[in-house]
Amino acid sequence: MDNISNYFGANVFGDSVMKERLPEETYNLLRNAAVEGKSIDNEIANTVALAMKEWAIEKGATHYTHWFQPMTGITAEKHDSFIAPTDDGHIIMEFSGKELIKGEPDASSFPSGGLRATFEARGYTAWDPSSYAFIKDNTLCIPTAFCSYGGEALDQKTPLLRSMDAIEKQALRIVKLFGMTDVKSVRTTAGPEQEYFLIDKELWKKRPDLVFCGRTLMGAVPPKGQEMNDHYFGVIKPRVSEFMKELDDELWKLGVLAKTEHNEAAPAQHELAPVFTTTNIAADHNQLTMELMKKIADKHGLVCLLAEKPFKGVNGSGKHNNWSMATDTGVNLLSPGKNPRENLLFLLCLVAVIKAVDKHQDLLRISVATAGNDHRLGGAEAPPTIISMYLGDELTEILEDIENGTSHENRGKTKMNIGTEAIPEFKKDNTDRNRTSPFAFTGNKFEFRMLGSASSISDTNVMLNTMMTDVLKEFADRIENAKDFETEVREIIRESFHNHKRIVFNGDGYSEKWQEEAAKRGLLNLKSTPDAIPYLLSDENISLFTRYGIFNNAELRCRADISLENYSKIVHIEALTLGEMVKRDVMPAISKSVKDCCKTLEIKTRILGGDNLKAEKAIIKTLSDCYENLFDLVTKLDLEVEKAQAEADILKQSGLYNKSVLMLMEEIRAEADKAETLVPRENWPYPTYGDLLFNV
Ligand code: ADP
Ligand code: MG
Repeated sequence: MDNISNYFGANVFGDSVMKERLPEETYNLLRNAAVEGKSIDNEIANTVALAMKEWAIEKGATHYTHWFQPMTGITAEKHDSFIAPTDDGHIIMEFSGKELIKGEPDASSFPSGGLRATFEARGYTAWDPSSYAFIKDNTLCIPTAFCSYGGEALDQKTPLLRSMDAIEKQALRIVKLFGMTDVKSVRTTAGPEQEYFLIDKELWKKRPDLVFCGRTLMGAVPPKGQEMNDHYFGVIKPRVSEFMKELDDELWKLGVLAKTEHNEAAPAQHELAPVFTTTNIAADHNQLTMELMKKIADKHGLVCLLAEKPFKGVNGSGKHNNWSMATDTGVNLLSPGKNPRENLLFLLCLVAVIKAVDKHQDLLRISVATAGNDHRLGGAEAPPTIISMYLGDELTEILEDIENGTSHENRGKTKMNIGTEAIPEFKKDNTDRNRTSPFAFTGNKFEFRMLGSASSISDTNVMLNTMMTDVLKEFADRIENAKDFETEVREIIRESFHNHKRIVFNGDGYSEKWQEEAAKRGLLNLKSTPDAIPYLLSDENISLFTRYGIFNNAELRCRADISLENYSKIVHIEALTLGEMVKRDVMPAISKSVKDCCKTLEIKTRILGGDNLKAEKAIIKTLSDCYENLFDLVTKLDLEVEKAQAEADILKQSGLYNKSVLMLMEEIRAEADKAETLVPRENWPYPTYGDLLFNV
């Protein structure tokens, strides 16, 4: 095999290619544009476009596309070929700065929550020079933002870029106050760990629920689940390992730093973690990762399920969003260093996060609110729906000392005794990590664990960046106006921890007690998407987002509407799918099994007499009851779906889907699952959980 370094980033118009192919002046201007957010004029764009085109054509590309992320959560592209006719009837390969900078996809079928109707019919895509162009399937893909004519964001990237600019401004003020005058930029960083399931494609085809909804809507628990813990970090099966190898190769060519691949807790579940990078690039890369996972699985006769809860009774899939802030001079602002007790910049940033998370619990919950993820959150496997933060004993102790004016031995100096000196000093608390916490400090970054596996990481990072912007601004204002720098910084740390420590919880997030305790502390517990989304439009949030230019009023409303509409649409499709599965497959299967059993009973009665034939009678009775119940429930489901469909108010509509429709679906599932355990294997219409989870 080739040395990876020979092909890593081979399909990316990245820094080294640009350096090699662009005039020095253009290269520098472009880099400044990317690093410092300066705008790019037509002349630079033309030069870049020419170099990009030549490079792409040499690599075999025939088309180009503006690659963007509409609010459907997946990426979109519209391919144009480089070919343009000339006057003399020939063709030339054409691609200019104009085409690089701006595109006009026919955008009428992307969700806009009414934004485009209000402003203008067309949508525009605009080049994001801070994320590299790349080649995929013979097409030069140009990362772009997607907006309306008036500049309203219709995508995930635009608000993310805005929020990165906003937090940078405030973070720069802070680091300058700490004397770091050489810092030119502060970027937020993200490393999203991606969980997913791989199942056999032939089996997948036989399940309408998987095909239409990406998750199973019924399925009895198999005799073996994940209780033996034999899958987690277990040996990777050959077919999966081939898939992972190809996935790594393809990602590496695209410059995605896929790093660790391992099995997860549930059978057939796996994880890919990349090396972290600047947030907007991490977001682009995660979209590419999800896309390639699906495509490459297909080549291996597999299907990659990204849904958050594809199987009931086994762990679901999340996406851990590791987040921090870093300067262009290489300082991680959340790195405690050797002596966190005396590291005021670190402690200030730490309490900024604590304050932000406590003040804006609603925004974090909203950023992970989808129909799919609701099934995952709150089970004793993923973080609960209550937002809290884990700091570990050492940091909690340091902050408590500052709060109370007490002091402790510096723990950083005591090494954990595992018989070796070769471990870093600050690791003791953090290796013993709390897996139940939604928002955990893990050494030199925070890990937000509520994000669903299928979602883009953009929303979550927009929220994190925006709420941090607000807190950092407040801190910077105070410190700038303070008489004594250090006294003020210490006071801010003390006061922020004191006022917001209710969000810190180092215990077991799954316990009943925590639910009660959290309620006492006044923490929010927004159980479902329809419960959470309305908070986006609170006066406080509208004011927050408009103040920093992240979203205007109309953009916020459109996002709330789209979230609720998506929620309703998903549950609607699931309800119809389940109804059809029950009516056309499950009930006939039950009916046939009852008939077979009745026949046997009839014959046996003739030979043996009617007494003592308990088994057949019991099975006939149970299955007949299931059949009746399913008929009633499915009839009710049809009615409830109709009612929800007819509701014009989208919030009320999502509430109906959440309460009545989903509840009925649960009841139907219980009956179907009961039937599955009694119907002979040959009569059951679908591959079972056992087949799906243990057959790769
Ligand atoms: P675990 O599975 O134990 O949570 P992993 O090592 O699998 O940890 O993943 C940790 C993730 O955090 C990786 O993607 C890593 O690149 C990322 N990460 C590390 N440091 C930072 C940082 N400063 N900012 C953002 N992400 C980071
Ligand atoms: Mg993790």
